[in-house]
Amino acid sequence: MHTTHTKGRMARTWAWTFWALAACVQAHEDATAPGCPPVPWQPITAAVWAWLPDERDPQAPPQPVVAVVDDGQAMLIDPGPSAAHGAQAQRTLACRFQASLRWVVLTHGDPESVRGLQGLQLADAGQVRAPAAIVKRLADGCTVCGVEPGRVKPGQSELQTGQVLPVGRLSVQVLAVHKAHSPGDALLWLAPQGVLWAGGLVDRQPLPEASRAEPDAWLQALQRVDEQARHPTQPVQHLLAHGHWASAAEVQAAVQRTRQALLGLQAQVQQGLQGGRLPEEIGAEIDRAHWPAGVPRTPALQARQRANLQRMVQVLEAAGSMPQGVGR
Ligand SMILES: [Zn+2]
Repeated sequence: MHTTHTKGRMARTWAWTFWALAACVQAHEDATAPGCPPVPWQPITAAVWAWLPDERDPQAPPQPVVAVVDDGQAMLIDPGPSAAHGAQAQRTLACRFQASLRWVVLTHGDPESVRGLQGLQLADAGQVRAPAAIVKRLADGCTVCGVEPGRVKPGQSELQTGQVLPVGRLSVQVLAVHKAHSPGDALLWLAPQGVLWAGGLVDRQPLPEASRAEPDAWLQALQRVDEQARHPTQPVQHLLAHGHWASAAEVQAAVQRTRQALLGLQAQVQQGLQGGRLPEEIGAEIDRAHWPAGVPRTPALQARQRANLQRMVQVLEAAGSMPQGVGR
């Protein structure tokens, strides 16, 4: 959405000028840092860099790893799908950006957000911040996530709504913490640049990953993203989410796509169950009628569809809104 708000426009002009200067400076630093890992950091806006998934690889994990860098300090948001990602990202903070790692923030609990933790050198476990449910899962060590005990601290590591984490002269704000796409999902906001991190809440895939979702809470969280996108004075300029970077013009479409996918899945499963059909039959129907056009039915996506379906059945069962005996 385009705003005619003069102050906002001036602020953005400044931001772009600063960004262009910063990009020149960074390019120079890059050239003078032999041995620095070749991490393909892309400048998103002033002080924000993203390591996005390889578009040529359909199996690439839905990272982005994002770095907020200012005045010699850095925050890594979702340190990547492997220890190597975390280690390389941290190394480049020092050799390319001349910054030390101040914070590591996990937006949610999926492997691509969490596994990079293993590769990080941390001075103190309190540097890691994540939604409480994710902290709880990681605190004793999580073999599935590849995270050893002690990397996070219960209490101290928990992200709370309204928290502000300083990075150099900037402040990253925790707008909200939901239990929506995963057991804990944080929305993060960097005000002057208008950058919103939505973790797994907004997916670039036409089929979002909903195997651990609370669909109603997810729809509410999307509402929050949408409100920020339409904010009269501080709208979203850049959205960073699952494998995804969206500019201001694309944010609402991205949110809408995820919302439609969830609503569609919810409604179809409910209807099918009420019509007395088994979950497998409903799954086959959904596949036939609604497999997103142009999306190949890869085994990974088919598995995702099955897991999503199972989850929707579970949620309806738990809510008591499913006809008795169906799906058991
Ligand atoms: Zn995820």
